[in-house]
Amino acid sequence: MRWTQTLIPTMKETPEGAEIPSHVLMLRAGLIHQVMAGAYTYLPLGRRALNKAEQIVREEMDRTGAVEILMSALTPISLWEQTGRVEAFGDVLIQFAVRRQNRKVQMALGPTHEEVVTDLVAKFISSYRQMPITLYQIQTKFRNEERPRFGVLRTSEFLMKDAYSFDVSVESLGKSYKKMYAAYCRIFARCGLKYLAVEAESGPIGGDASHEFMIVAENGEDSIIHCKDCGYAANLEKAEIGARSGSLSRGLPQEIEQVATPGATTIEQVSRFLKCKPEEMIKTLVYVADAGPIAVLVRGDHEANENKIRRAAKAQKLALADPATIQRVTGAPVGFAGPVGLREKIPVYADRDVEFMINAVTGANQADTHLKGVNPGRDFQIDCAADLRNARSGDPCPRCSSRVALRHAIEVGHVFKLGTKYSEALNARFLDAQEQLRPIIMGCYGIGVNRIIAGLIETSNDAQGIIWPVALAPYEVVVAPINVADAPSREAAERIYDALAAAGIDVLLDDRDVRAGVKFKDADLVGFPLRVVIGDRGLKQGQIEIKWRWEEKPQMIPLEGAVAAIADLIRQERASGARFAPQKKSV
Ligand SMILES: [Zn+2]
Repeated sequence: MRWTQTLIPTMKETPEGAEIPSHVLMLRAGLIHQVMAGAYTYLPLGRRALNKAEQIVREEMDRTGAVEILMSALTPISLWEQTGRVEAFGDVLIQFAVRRQNRKVQMALGPTHEEVVTDLVAKFISSYRQMPITLYQIQTKFRNEERPRFGVLRTSEFLMKDAYSFDVSVESLGKSYKKMYAAYCRIFARCGLKYLAVEAESGPIGGDASHEFMIVAENGEDSIIHCKDCGYAANLEKAEIGARSGSLSRGLPQEIEQVATPGATTIEQVSRFLKCKPEEMIKTLVYVADAGPIAVLVRGDHEANENKIRRAAKAQKLALADPATIQRVTGAPVGFAGPVGLREKIPVYADRDVEFMINAVTGANQADTHLKGVNPGRDFQIDCAADLRNARSGDPCPRCSSRVALRHAIEVGHVFKLGTKYSEALNARFLDAQEQLRPIIMGCYGIGVNRIIAGLIETSNDAQGIIWPVALAPYEVVVAPINVADAPSREAAERIYDALAAAGIDVLLDDRDVRAGVKFKDADLVGFPLRVVIGDRGLKQGQIEIKWRWEEKPQMIPLEGAVAAIADLIRQERASGARFAPQKKSV
């Protein structure tokens, strides 16, 4: 391809509204164009990068034995009603009615395809002999995004690879899951991404049944907990905390003292008012679980984790109590709850760190009043002590004796053991070897293809622009004659370009009649892995210049044999990615 015959609208300035490197660079390098908030056109370079990511995903899916299909994006609303997901998705589901002759047909644009694929399988799979099978597609998904931002990282329309496995047993599902997990590792490694597979909330199957694939990035919207020493990694919802020790607020227990705290309802207000630190306070939260209200205690500087609380309380449902319930249970308005002297006898759940607290400050279950000198065990009983809070940097690792760190990350993939939720709802059953009718056991596996591109750019760039690995680069090589008006330079560039293209290299010829400086700036901005520069001075000595995007200095190579040498370099780099990989910061 020639630069003058394609569409690469590069920009010098940072576009308005773009905050993070991937968004800025995708716009500036002419990869994407915003059509409206949350929707983008992929321009030629963006489309090429996306194609490459898609192809890597497809190859690795095929290698696992998964079978590609393409489901419709338009789906009947009835399918979503059968699984209760019209409510579950709420405004995220893009639905509408269209007129067909004299009736209105309600439909939705697929935000995901569990319903459609399960319905399909229910119709065609009826025997254990037809499984295991994994079906996948690469298709545009639609989810109404209330606050689209960060370029293609958070949009209402995105390209996704979604796969669904169908098995006869939980053991067999385990094998399907492992295959997908391994394929995901290969995909992200081939894309040149530094990723972490982190434990995630597991849903109905429980145990080690869900992982998210994350790219560690400063601007990532997900929080993960990572231990550098043993490799433990989990998302914030799931991350466990190792054994606690009582290092804080040592001292002799004092008498309880009631103090007035007019209008101070938050941890910050109370700590300012009483001149105590948040870590010296007990935060008392009232939740409503399946069997009624429970009190949950965490240290003032900690955040409660609802998933952990739900598990500890063995509850299906859990929600923060409304003000009326809080008033009834504690005898005080919101903001003054405490474990001492609750009006109603309700179970008290405490995070492990609370057990070690001495002379804590808590709400007094009276308006505008707190208590000082509160001691667990002496002043109130804990019915259940467990890990109930979010982990944070410096917490003990749950797997080794080290400390964990909180990192920000971009989620690019998710593998999940679904169980029978959809097969039960949509009646996807099979006859087992004993002629018993049983629900099919499912897994689902997603990859955000756009996020592969954005995640790569977010973590692989410098002040000049994007740094692509050969695997994803829109073009592997850019050939740039310094001066197209100089006939020998132009002709040499044309010859090299033609020969590289004939050798199967993705090459772009920068045939624009612009200053060399502009070509170099654009080449760095777009980030082609290898730049080949042809100038009249070098040509006179029988030499041309090549430079890897991630290396400081160019090198001169003989014109004679240059095409074979360049093609070899690119083929080696395609196979190993070894030249690109080391320049990336480690996770
Ligand atoms: Zn560890």
